[in-house]
Amino acid sequence: MPEAPRNLFSSMNQEEIDAWRQQPLSDGRLWVGGQWRAAEGGRCLPASSPIDGSTLCQIAAASAADVDAAVRAARAAFERGSWSRMAPAERKKVLHRIAERIEAQQLELAVLGVRDNGTEIAMALRAEPGSAAATFRYYAECVDKLMGEIAPTPEGTLGLVHKAPVGVVGAIVPWNFPLMIGAWKIAPALAAGNSVVLKPSEDASLSLLRLAQLCQEAGLPEGVLNVVTGTGAETGDALARHMDVDVLTFTGSGPVGRQLLKASAESNLKRVYLELGGKSPNIVFDDAPDLALAAKVSAMAIFRNSGQVCVAGSRLLVQRVVHDAFVEQLSQIAASLRVGDPLDLRTEMGAVSSARQLARNQAMLACALEEGAHLRTGGQVIAPVPGGHYMAPAVLEGVRPEMAIAREEVFGPVLAVTPFDDEAEAVRLANGTDYGLAAGVWTGSLSRAHRMVRAIKAGVVHVNTYGGPDITVPLGGVRQSGNGHDKSMHALDKYLDLKTAWIQL
Ligand code: NAD
Repeated sequence: MPEAPRNLFSSMNQEEIDAWRQQPLSDGRLWVGGQWRAAEGGRCLPASSPIDGSTLCQIAAASAADVDAAVRAARAAFERGSWSRMAPAERKKVLHRIAERIEAQQLELAVLGVRDNGTEIAMALRAEPGSAAATFRYYAECVDKLMGEIAPTPEGTLGLVHKAPVGVVGAIVPWNFPLMIGAWKIAPALAAGNSVVLKPSEDASLSLLRLAQLCQEAGLPEGVLNVVTGTGAETGDALARHMDVDVLTFTGSGPVGRQLLKASAESNLKRVYLELGGKSPNIVFDDAPDLALAAKVSAMAIFRNSGQVCVAGSRLLVQRVVHDAFVEQLSQIAASLRVGDPLDLRTEMGAVSSARQLARNQAMLACALEEGAHLRTGGQVIAPVPGGHYMAPAVLEGVRPEMAIAREEVFGPVLAVTPFDDEAEAVRLANGTDYGLAAGVWTGSLSRAHRMVRAIKAGVVHVNTYGGPDITVPLGGVRQSGNGHDKSMHALDKYLDLKTAWIQL
């Protein structure tokens, strides 16, 4: 996860967290054209907390007409030029002020998000407001460095390549790390001069609605950022099919990604960028410099946020000579993790995001056992907070590459362990799924590390660590983990068009 600004940790005070968790929440509305408005017909959905199963508030359920109003507001703002034609130096100041507003409200935002999705608070602070603020700052600094090109044309002609904003960007994001992933979409899209219509997950909308308000307080002109809440099947689909959305940027599951490509094909052929799931291999060689550290980091690579991390190292491949000792060490760490109330600073693993996700975790676990895997530790549903959704971190041994648990994403705290004999077998196993999002390699050999980075089909390969890449480097999948990239200067390409001026001199 991204590095947190230093001052964040001073905010980790249990009393303040407990005060914010009591904050009453008003029923949700849509954020359209810089104003709150109810959804058509006043329709709502409950926002429930995975911490204890309680209903936090209602969120507005946007219809296709509501989505159309948001896209119209975004288009009108774009054409007005209040943002798209604002001087880059001025736009940059607004994005910096958004980062400042996020930092000023970091604890409020983090606690609000945790009440909605159950991420452990210490991690939420770093990965949500901490990373969102860093993302806005990074793209603020890009605004006045986006250069066009002069092409090497023959004498008598001039070829200029302009980088132009695409217009209206539709962004659909998941329930895990909504602020971080929302910022990965919104900040570069705004930096490039676009207007945005954001559709959060119906399971985690609250912190993004609050972010929209902070953006306006920071000086973002009205209509430039709009937030429509509701279900994927209705609100998300209406955004994906809208004829006046120029680019759709998505993070979520593969099946929904496929539907978005279809929606684009059946509407206006908008560009669609997909950041999808993974079944990422974490490979431990017998020459790893520090096996104890590798065990600790590998445990958190799968169990942080209850395994609900797109790049989670969910397949552990261990060289046979160290397999038994390593799995023993890792299983002890898993069994000792403190699972509980995610708003308690002592908690190491919080809640599973929903009853639906908990049922999926259990079903995948049962299927693995039926197919012959052996449960080393954990896996049982537990109830540290009555009414909430929790399970003990599970380690499965003896997983064979053809089992569903080795091929399909669980998105839960379930680790599948498979032994291997040599480097060639490790590469074969690592690349043996349809995905290609992330990987880890633990080795003391520099040459082997480089060979593995080249051989593994993934968007990011961690070496002697797992997680932590900051905003300066791209994140994107290959194969069925998606296309395009969030983060880094490369993300800007998604939100810009190249326009040529060919001039006879
Ligand atoms: P999801 O695909 O179910 O939902 C994601 C978003 O799509 C939500 O806002 C949802 O309402 C919307 N949606 C659902 N159906 C839709 C439809 N028919 N049309 C338009 N929108 C629709 O995913 P999720 O359960 O929220 O998140 C978990 C998934 O996200 C996992 O697969 C995980 O790996 C992936 N993920 C990937 C990354 C990455 O960077 N690659 C990061 C985080 C999560």
